Parts: sequence; C-alpha cells; structure tokens
Amino acid sequence: MARHAILARLWSGTGAILLLAALYADAHAATVELPAAADRVSLTAHLAYRHDIEAADHVEDAFARAARGEFQPLPASAAFGFQRGAFWFHAPLVNRNADERRWLLVQEYPLSDRIDIYLRHADGRVLHQAGGDHLPFGQRSVRYRHPNFLLDLPPGERVELLVRVESQSSMQVPLELYTPGAFIELSRDAQLAIGLYYGILVALFFYNLVLWLSLRDASYFWYLFHISAFGLVLFTLNGLGFEYLWPDSPWLADRMVPLSICLALVAMQQFARTFLELPQRWPRGNLVSLAVIVFFVLFGIASIWLPYRISTPVASRAVLAGLIWIVVATVYVLRQGYAPARLLLLAWAMFLLGTAVFTLLAFGVLPKNFATEYGVQIGSALEMLLLSIALGYRYAALRNENERIVNEARLQLERKVAQRTQEVRSALMRLEEAHTRLRDSSRRDGLTGLYNRTWFHEAFERMLDEAREGRHPLSLLMIDLDHFKTINDRHGHLVGDECLRWAAHRIGKALRSHEALLARFGGEEFVVALPAQDLPAAVAVAEEVRQALVQATCEVQGHAIRISASIGVHTINAEALDDIDNALEVADRALYAAKANGRDCIRTSISAA
Ligand code: GH3
Ligand code: MG
Ligand code: MG
Repeated sequence: MARHAILARLWSGTGAILLLAALYADAHAATVELPAAADRVSLTAHLAYRHDIEAADHVEDAFARAARGEFQPLPASAAFGFQRGAFWFHAPLVNRNADERRWLLVQEYPLSDRIDIYLRHADGRVLHQAGGDHLPFGQRSVRYRHPNFLLDLPPGERVELLVRVESQSSMQVPLELYTPGAFIELSRDAQLAIGLYYGILVALFFYNLVLWLSLRDASYFWYLFHISAFGLVLFTLNGLGFEYLWPDSPWLADRMVPLSICLALVAMQQFARTFLELPQRWPRGNLVSLAVIVFFVLFGIASIWLPYRISTPVASRAVLAGLIWIVVATVYVLRQGYAPARLLLLAWAMFLLGTAVFTLLAFGVLPKNFATEYGVQIGSALEMLLLSIALGYRYAALRNENERIVNEARLQLERKVAQRTQEVRSALMRLEEAHTRLRDSSRRDGLTGLYNRTWFHEAFERMLDEAREGRHPLSLLMIDLDHFKTINDRHGHLVGDECLRWAAHRIGKALRSHEALLARFGGEEFVVALPAQDLPAAVAVAEEVRQALVQATCEVQGHAIRISASIGVHTINAEALDDIDNALEVADRALYAAKANGRDCIRTSISAA
C-alpha cells in the first residue's frame, strides 16, 4: 500500500536511530515532568507507543508490556495514517505544579472512534475514562469538539498514563495537557478562528444566494451547493458536526466524512461544468466530468455501507483525482481563450494546495502545525472567495459579450441599410439615365441624329409661347435639298442616305453659333427655329446655311457630289397669333417660291407673297 511505502521511505533514513531507541526503550519511559509554572504540556514528544494489530491486549497486558520496554518512541508526526487494530500510548507523569491539581487531557483530533484513558496512581488504583465519536457527545468532560478528559494529578505523585486508541479514521494522537485556565484561553482563540472561517463561508453563501435568485444562472446554484457541502465536510472534520449536528449518532459520525466529500465533489464538478460551459466548449471533457459525477454519486451511496477505514482513504484519493480533472478542464478551456477560467484556475490551485497539505498530514507525511492543520480552511476560504469573484467576472464577461453582439448586429444592420439605400439610389439613377436615353431616342431621327418632326412641334409650341410672353420675334427656316431624287437615282439610295447625313451635319455646324433649334422635317427637308431673330437676321442665317452646303462637296464612295438647298424664311411677330401649322405653311410657301426661282436661293414670306 502507498501508505506503507511513504512511511517506509520516511523511516528508512532513521532506521538506525529507531533501532537504538528500541534498545533503550526505558529511556523513553522517563517520567514526564509537568513543570511548576507550566499550564500546557504537549505529551506527543514524550509518548511511547505499541501497535496492537489484533486489538487483543487488556489494560494490564499493556501496562506490563510498557514496563518490559516493548513500547517504541512516537514518530515526530504522531500520525500513522489509516491502520487496523488498536494503538497504545504510554507515559509516566509527575505534576510539579503545586497550584494545579486538575489537568485536561485533550486529543486534538476529533475523528478517533474510541479513546480509553487509564491513569495508574502510586497506590495502584487505575482510573478509566472513555471518549471518541463512538460515544455520545454528552459524556465529554468539557463540551468541546475535541475529545477531552479531566485528570486528577496530585502534585508530586508519579502516575502512569496509558491511552488506547482504536479507530477506523486516520491514527493521529496529538495529546495535550492543559490546566483548565489555559484550555479556556486556547479554545477561545481556536473557536474564533473557526468562527471567522464559517463567517466567510456564510457571507459568501448569502451573497451568492441573492445573486442566484436574481440572475438564475446555474453556476450560482452549484456554487451554493458546493459551498454548503464543503462547509459540511469541514464541520465534520473539525468535530463541530459531531458536537452540534449528530451528537448522539456515532453511525453518522463515521459516514459523514465520505458522504459530505462526495456531495461537495459532485457540486464542484457540476459547478466547473456549467461555469466552463464544457458541453459547448469541450464535449469530450464534459463526458469525463459526467463520469466523475456518476462515480461520486455511486461512491457516496456505497459509503453508507462501506467501512470507514476503506471509504475515507478512497474518497480522499478520489478528491485529488477529481480536483486534478477540474484543473485539466479549466486549463483546456482557458487555452481556448475563455478568460473567466483564469480566476477559476487560481481558485482551484488554492484549494488543491490546502487539500494536498491536509491530505499529507492525514497520511502522516507532513507534521502537524497551523499551516497543515488549517491548510484546507485557508485554501478553501480563498477558493470560495475567488470562485465568487470569478462568477461576478464571468457574469460581467457574458453581459459585455451580449452587448458586443447586439452592437455588432446593429452596426451590421446599419451598414446593410446604407448599402441597400446606395444600391437603390444607383439603380434609380441608371433607370433615369435609361429613361432619358429612351426619351431622347424618341425625339431623334435615326438617320441624321437631328430632332424629329414630332419633337420640333412640341419645342416650337413652347418657343411660340415664350416669344409671345417675351414680346420678341421668332423666325422659321424651311430647308429643302435640291434635286435630291436625282442623287438617289444616280448613285443609289445608300449614297443618298450618306448625303442626307452630310447635309444635316453641315447645316448643324452652320447654326452652331446661333441659338437655333434644328430638326429633320421629313425626307430631304429640314426646319430651323430661330428665337428672338427678326426677318433680316433670319435671312442672314439662311444665307450662312446655304453657303455652308454649296461651298463644300460631299465625298461618298469616291463620288464628289454637290448639294444645294432652297430655303424659305418666315418671321412670326410677337403680336401675331399665328399657330404653328399656319407658320409652317407660310414658310413652306416661301420655300416653294425659292424652288420656283431656280433653287439654291432664299425667299422670305414677304418676298414670296
Ligand atoms: P426638288 O429640287 O424639287 O426638291 O427635287 P427633288 O428630287 O429633291 O424633290 P422630290 O420631292 O421630287 O423628291 C424628293 C426625294 O428625296 C424623293 C426621295 O427619293 C428622296 N428622299 C426622301 N427621303 C429620303 C431618304 O431618307 N433617303 C434617300 N436616299 N432619299 C430620300
Ligand atoms: Mg422635298
Ligand atoms: Mg428636294
């Protein structure tokens, strides 16, 4: 067994010393003097012990064996781990303190099942007292969490103390002698320390209870469960459970240690699972955690029937394994970048350290002192505190994450709306452009690109209105290419088309400097509106147009074609109420006159009349 291995290793170095000690066992039977001014004496260093494996010896046998030097000196830790049978401890005492006759012998380890105290006086009387958590709490000399026995030690008299301990719990014998006054002082300090510890636990409990009630986060519930169960573990371990909760039940006293440990571990695993969000963050690890929980539930149930000597060491080892697993899961989730796990890791580290120290004390590897005895309390108080902080931190992190998600969603929505608006806007623009192009193409003549007759009508109507309102004249040129039929006949229709385009271009160019509206009126006829131009000005423009055609030749497919035009000019006075058709007819008449006059010339409505 591991315990033996540890003890063997510890003892192998000091084997020679132990051998010497055994040879001079009588030296250890040297009488313990309770000094005159002393009010507290630790017996542990002075005790000799014998392991009665079969628990067969009677008290007389034990006194006889002690007298024969069959007892050994106690190892420094005064702890043997989990052992079978009974242990006998022996020390002769002389009380040199004339003022104190009554001394309290305290076994400062609360879980021993049965302790028998035998005090043999000089006259041969042997007084017996019994204690431990297999006897009702009420039988104790002083109502205190540690078993204690009031001894009558007449000053100057040599008495022999024999203590027999039989227990399924860890074999520890930190035996101390106190005067009643010293004991009161000591117990006050110890109770205050314990009270502080439970004060922290209770405060954390209620603080987190309120948070759980308002937040309804499962992690808080398991935290509360864990802190309660863990408080119960320590209540059991330090003897307060037996004192206050089950003073008449040795049965519960035996089972509460493994039971409360299992409860605490189930809650701890559940807490870690929910806090670390294992089901989502590490599904495989989650399965392991569930398996650990199932183990502790089953083992907790089994510990009701299992002997304490077996269930407690198994539970203690399982605690370490379970804790290590939680640390592994925490590190895993932490490495995934889950920041709240960092505080959790620190909390587990505190608790592990405290528990490890206490476990090593229970197995007799570490000596008993303040840090080892209260290791679990100190470690767990820090752990609970850190866990509570971690819960708050996690809540804040969750809230921040939620806010971030909401903000991001809002920003994304805004971006999308802006993008859609832009898309709609540009689609509208394209649509308008297309519409403009379409409208424009409906105004234009396909061959020459000039405005068509329909559009001219509309535009001319507006010009007529403006001329009337502005009281200024409006002139009209009616242009007809001369002998165009001949061109078609001679060169073909396609060449004719080319010539039409050429003529349209020339006329347009000639009109560029004037504010004129030019349109193809039909066939080889063009019409021009000249706003705010009177007749002489219009005639001058007509002359420019005529010149523009005859001063150049149209080059098409190697042919040089001369093109001329006859032009009729008509000016509408602002006062005249001419409608458009009438005006066009008058202009056409002038054109006809130009044709009649031999073509390539200009005639006005006045000269034509
Ligand atoms: P006039 O000097 O009396 O105006 O003689 P003309 O031949 O120009 O007059 P007419 O009205 O008899 O003939 C007009 C010709 O213009 C008839 C037609 O073939 C031609 N024409 C009209 N539109 C087009 C066109 O779009 N393309 C071509 N190639 N010819 C056209
Ligand atoms: Mg014509
Ligand atoms: Mg013509």
